[in-house]
Amino acid sequence: MGEIDFLYQDKFNEECGVFGVINVKNASEVMYYGLHALQHRGQEGCGIITSDNKTLKQVKGLGLVNNVFNEKVLASLEGDSAIGHIRYSTSGGGGIENVQPFLFRHHTGNFGLCHNGNIVNSRELRRFLEIHGSIFQSTSDTEIFAHLIKKDNQTNRVEAIKQALNRLEGAFAFLALTEDKLYVMRDKNSLRPLSLGKLNGGYVVSSETCAFEAVGAKFVRDILPGEILIIDNKGNMTSDFYAKKTYNNMCAMEYIYFSRPDSDIEGMNVHKSRKEAGRILAKESPVDADIVIWVPDSSTSAALGFSEESGIPIELGLIKSRYIGRTFIQPSQAMREKGVKMKLSPVPSIVKGKRVVIIDDSIVRGTTSKKIIDLIKAAGATEVHMRIASPQITHPCFYGVDTSTFDELICARHSLEEVRDIIHADSLEFISIDGIHKACNRTKMCVSCFSGKYPTHVYRELDEANKDGKF
Ligand code: SF4
Repeated sequence: MGEIDFLYQDKFNEECGVFGVINVKNASEVMYYGLHALQHRGQEGCGIITSDNKTLKQVKGLGLVNNVFNEKVLASLEGDSAIGHIRYSTSGGGGIENVQPFLFRHHTGNFGLCHNGNIVNSRELRRFLEIHGSIFQSTSDTEIFAHLIKKDNQTNRVEAIKQALNRLEGAFAFLALTEDKLYVMRDKNSLRPLSLGKLNGGYVVSSETCAFEAVGAKFVRDILPGEILIIDNKGNMTSDFYAKKTYNNMCAMEYIYFSRPDSDIEGMNVHKSRKEAGRILAKESPVDADIVIWVPDSSTSAALGFSEESGIPIELGLIKSRYIGRTFIQPSQAMREKGVKMKLSPVPSIVKGKRVVIIDDSIVRGTTSKKIIDLIKAAGATEVHMRIASPQITHPCFYGVDTSTFDELICARHSLEEVRDIIHADSLEFISIDGIHKACNRTKMCVSCFSGKYPTHVYRELDEANKDGKF
């Protein structure tokens, strides 16, 4: 007794990650370390395209960065500029044909392209493009953008890119690489993070700033909402915008769960925001308890904040096996059900006879919470109170996170009291939406999965997510 398996399907799964390099010697090696630092954002597949100023070369494969790339493969990817991608399949499904970056050949010039996020009008655009003669190689949203660029058939590439971006609705951070330029593009709602760093006279671009630390780069600035940043192989940089109206709608879940604690998102360190969320949670929903424990790993910072604010000592009440990690998350539900499990063990000598408050970052389906609480009680805890460092997730996300229906979300289907009863907690509380804004020190961000108010038009997605009309 004392050990549980829990499937990652009971958490929001990460989106993808992108990394770009320009004017840095041996760009593929820098890329390798950059992608490695972003590995938590996806484990299904990864790829790199490099340019030596004359030709674009590509290698991609299924699995982790260190499974797909070795010294020999990296040496074959010559050049001083590169784009790379790590993938968790949010839309389009799994398989090598959907692993990015994609390489496109066109009479106006070849280019590589990769993307983090999700295009909500992809079905409409795909149909439109197919009617006009486009043939798709994959089911990925990224290819839609490439076909839109090609379709506009302008001699001025930046104008073609602007027109294509204006047709997209949703969340995206795109990187495109030609023989001599890197294009960096962020959606006008700035839902997905994307930052610029400087390295040895050249530049790097990353979904998260933790990768700058990994490659020795210095943070310069975030890419702005609606911005197209173009950096050429001589080091010239120009900034342009595809949209006049732009918005600050950064995804709240980046702070709560997705991003690494050592990353900074738009000026706020992720660990600090989580710790502050823990403090606010302790103020909003105090509880009489003997110890604070947490669900490893992304709840650690919130538990520290909760303990500091409440004065309840923090203890190591749950241990996660070191050797079973985020090794290979399978993209399909069927594969996930069979797939990799993570093991957690309660520590009986810590929790026995104690009133325990356990901190978790979020509840999606609730199955894990119930198993954890049952085990802590079986290990001798007299009471288990659960405090969650995100608001209740009551709506699906359409911006690159794999919750697609209301039915999957326990807080959409049940009242707070019902959820408490289902997961066997003695009490259950979530941080408020106002509280999470305060924790992230910003008034504007996407909180749609908590509020149901989406920052973009969502086309047919909401109806699809509610097929049986219950919600
Ligand atoms: S709906 Fe939720 S997970 Fe999706 S972008 Fe908004 S805050 Fe992030």
